Amino acid sequence: MKVAFFSTKSYDKEYFNKFNHENFHELTFFEVPLNHQTASLTAGFEAVCVFVNDEIDEKTIEIISANGIKVVALRCAGFNNIDLKSAKSKNLKVLRVPAYSPESVAEHATALILTLNRKTHKAYNRVREGNFSIENLTGFNLSGKTVGVIGTGLIGASFCKIMLGFGCKVLAYDIQESVDLKEKGVQYKKLEEVLIQSNIISLHCPLTPETAHIVNAGSISKMKDGVMLINTSRGALINAQDAIDGLKTGQIGYMGIDVYEQEADLFFQDLSESVIQDDVIARLISFPNVLITGHLGFFTKEALEEIATITLSNLSDFENVLMLKNEIKS
Ligand code: NAD
Repeated sequence: MKVAFFSTKSYDKEYFNKFNHENFHELTFFEVPLNHQTASLTAGFEAVCVFVNDEIDEKTIEIISANGIKVVALRCAGFNNIDLKSAKSKNLKVLRVPAYSPESVAEHATALILTLNRKTHKAYNRVREGNFSIENLTGFNLSGKTVGVIGTGLIGASFCKIMLGFGCKVLAYDIQESVDLKEKGVQYKKLEEVLIQSNIISLHCPLTPETAHIVNAGSISKMKDGVMLINTSRGALINAQDAIDGLKTGQIGYMGIDVYEQEADLFFQDLSESVIQDDVIARLISFPNVLITGHLGFFTKEALEEIATITLSNLSDFENVLMLKNEIKS
């Protein structure tokens, strides 16, 4: 199939070309994101391949459908950036990669926790400058702490197991409980209980109308004083302004985020020579107890291999009129 890739970086080209055996599909890589302004680039293609911050809204769908696009292949798990109703109305199939190395994101959430807690990033910089002082680098033992997990699907489950391995008590909230996790020692509770009892809260649910701003002034006020909040899921799960207020009062003692509600204008770009116009992220960056990474939870070799393999196989299934096992239906 002739596939137009959007928001592509060098690693997308590398992995997709590597796994596109015998050049089965004809891949064209655009660096620009897909949105209604760039949708005209899809003329002459049959499929688009998009990532987390492409905007496949009604307007974009109108244009790509008129251009003959028949399938949208998301090279990610989340699908909050596509208007499924509009896609259905144009008979556009939407495919995704529901599961690729969930350990990649779960392990990144753990990296955020360990870095925030043991301040390895600060210690590293001190030592490089010949400063071997350990003043103000005190951490806490993870063992024995209570970790709250919101969303125990593939990534959340992997994260629960890691936390159990650290000797933590793991509380979880999900609309669907996992028997396997319960057997391993995870205790499911109401959301409020998880918020009240946890020393660390990690978000692993998808972004939906029900979960949007699940962390807000009201929910933050229920959390323990000095709680550590981790978000590797989707930025809009947290009301960032409310989180800033919580950080200023100390109610939030640490915050580690790999995602940010307005990340589309910032992430995956080198803006080191630009003036950041987003005052909310600029304030977040200024806190000594906030750690931000630019949506790289997924970014391991294993995950990139799986993303490329599954996305290409999704496209082949569509082309060969096979069952679309990874189709998202509205
Ligand atoms: P999944 O579908 O396996 O699990 C999601 C879980 O959330 C399910 O158990 C589901 O029941 C639960 N859930 C749904 N609605 C809920 C609600 N209202 N309240 C509580 N729980 C709810 O998904 P996954 O593979 O574990 O991925 C989770 C999320 O992680 C994705 O939606 C995506 O946004 C994010 N993600 C981030 C990265 C990254 O690089 N940072 C990479 C992949 C995925």
